[in-house]
Formats: sequence, C-alpha cells, structure tokens
Amino acid sequence: MGTNANARAQGTIKSPLVWHPQSAADAWQLKQNYGADAVYTAGGTLLRTQWESGLAKVPAHLIDVSGISGEEESIRGHAAGIAIDASTLLAVCRNHELIAQKLPLLTEATKQIAAPSVRQLATIGGNISSLVGDSLPALLIYDAQLHLYGGAGEHWEELSDWLAAIEQSTPSTPISGRLLIGISVPQPDAMEVMDSNTKRFGAYYKVGRREAFTPSVVTAAVSGTINADGVLEYLKLAVGGGQTIPRRLKELEAAFADTELNSATLKRIYDGVLDVFEPKGDLFASAEYRKSTAANLIVTELWKSAAEAVNGGR
Ligand SMILES: Cc1cc2nc3c(=O)[nH]c(=O)nc-3n(C[C@H](O)[C@H](O)[C@H](O)COP(=O)(O)OP(=O)(O)OC[C@H]3O[C@@H](n4cnc5c(N)ncnc54)[C@H](O)[C@@H]3O)c2cc1C
Repeated sequence: MGTNANARAQGTIKSPLVWHPQSAADAWQLKQNYGADAVYTAGGTLLRTQWESGLAKVPAHLIDVSGISGEEESIRGHAAGIAIDASTLLAVCRNHELIAQKLPLLTEATKQIAAPSVRQLATIGGNISSLVGDSLPALLIYDAQLHLYGGAGEHWEELSDWLAAIEQSTPSTPISGRLLIGISVPQPDAMEVMDSNTKRFGAYYKVGRREAFTPSVVTAAVSGTINADGVLEYLKLAVGGGQTIPRRLKELEAAFADTELNSATLKRIYDGVLDVFEPKGDLFASAEYRKSTAANLIVTELWKSAAEAVNGGR
C-alpha cells in the first residue's frame, strides 16, 4: 500500500471544508475566523505532500486563494517593471515570453521545479510562500517585492526583507498568515547603464540528488557586470536549497563590487561563501557539502564570465 493509501486507511487524510473567496479581504477574513484550523492553498501540490507524509495535519478549512486576482493578465509589464499574480501557474511562468526576455533566471528556475504535470497545478505564490521554493533565489536576484494582505490591508515588502524577518521570527511573531497577492520585479535600472566594454552575466543553478525531477540540495543565482579589464562592476548573489530559507549574500556583493576578478579574488569569494552561507544539513547532504557546492557554483560562474568579458571566452 502506498503512503497515500496508508494515510487514508489510517484516517489521517480527511476532507476539509474548501472556501473559494474572490477577494484578498474575504480570504483574510476567513483566516481570521478560523485561525489555526484554516490554511491558504493555491495548487495544493506542496500541502498535499505534507499531509500524505504526515508532516502537516489536514486542516478543517482550506481557503483556496487561486481566484482572488481580478487582473486580466496574470503576468503584466508596466512602467516600473513586471507584475506577476501569486496565483500564476509555474507552467505559465516557465513559458512566458516576457519572463524569458526580462527575467531569464526565473524561467530557468521554474524549468527545474518538479515536472510538467506538477507545474500545471503549482503556483508561483505557493512556491514563494513555502519559504524554500526553488524560484526564490532567482526572484531575490531581481529584487522582487511582494504584494501582501495583512491586518492593516495591502502593503508591499522587499522579498529579501520578508524572508529575513521570517528566518529570525519566533512562533509568537505575528508575521505568518499574511496573504500573498502578487510579486513585482522592478526594472533593472542600475544594470541597464552599461558601456560597450561591459558584459552582463547571469545564471541560476539547482543541484539535486539526481539530474532532474528532484528536490534541491543547493540553489544559487548569480548576476552582475564585468568590464573588458576584468573588473567586476556589479555583483548579486543568492543561495538556498533544501530546507534553507534562501537569502542574498549582500555582504559579499558589497565587498567585491569594483574588484578585479582574478584568481586571488575568486578564492576570496569562495572563502566568503563558506563563511556567510549557513545552510541546513540533513541525512542526505551535510551543511558543509552545501556550502562548498554553493561556493563552487558561484566561483565557476564568475570565472567563466570573466574569461568571456576579457577575451571572448578563449
Ligand atoms: C512531486 C513534487 C515535486 C516538487 N518539486 C519541487 C521542486 O523541485 N522545487 C520546488 O521549489 N518545489 C517543489 N515542489 C513543491 C511545490 O510543488 C511547489 O513549491 C509549488 O510551487 C507550491 O505551489 P502550490 O500552489 O501548489 O502551493 P500550495 O501547496 O497550495 O501551498 C504551499 C504553501 O504556501 C501557502 N500559500 C499558497 N498560496 C498562498 C498565498 N497566495 N498567500 C499565502 N500563503 C500561500 C500554503 O498555505 C502552503 O503553506 C514539488 C511538489 C511535488 C508534489
């Protein structure tokens, strides 16, 4: 008997009452009414896995938030950047032309999440709200902002601040339970300003325990600009993977901007990643392994980009 059948036989999977609010205010109100007995859901792909494995109890009330957007286009370009509704399917993100053109690291990240059948149900909002979704390092690199609904109504928050606050929160911090309505990615203005001698680079990596259809062990996203003299002008780094809440390595970004990218610098960046990245280890991969994998991915990408910027990759 499979896990699911076992769980049903033992009566641990019960049918909750499912609500379908049409506005963020209604969804929020339902959550206030039922408190810990109610859980927001979108595609249900992660929740279902948690119920079946016994990691979470099936709640008495499920609040389906997939119908609350009200916008005609779930992915929209606007003067200040790109807006994505939380209820946008990962399959839509993965195939969307605007995302591919403007946010290629997000395309790469969504390509590597689960399999097509799961991506047809799973949402970007659910991936972000899981706190460990593989889209997060890509969104962190793009300085994504979250459109949230909480007790005081709608508000915006930087994704990196939101994740950091959750990482540092205690069970009594009133931070959980907020509803994610959408994501906005600002125009990458600073990186647009480049002269012809400057090369932009960017990459997203996911390392799992097998080649494809695998949970992440380490994720890393890198972007920046290098000039023809091999000077790193601009650097952004984000790391995550497994059950580690992803984060930007801002201390390293600041330390290495405007630095010549030679082998001594690469070694310092490698050591810097080992120093500041604090992944969670588990039975399959230790924290030390995750640190060195992240450091290798980042330094390899920087080395390749420097070689291309200085001598066209020769
Ligand atoms: C076979 C399989 C493989 C998978 N592989 C991967 C993988 O490679 N990488 C990866 O990152 N994930 C993976 N997942 C996990 C999951 O599919 C994704 O994280 C997905 O994006 C979750 O989206 P969902 O809409 O299904 O979320 P749900 O399961 O509905 O919800 C996930 C969490 O987010 C909360 N939530 C959902 N929407 C909102 C909202 N709008 N506001 C506030 N909270 C909200 C829920 O309460 C819940 O805590 C996999 C899952 C399965 C079943």
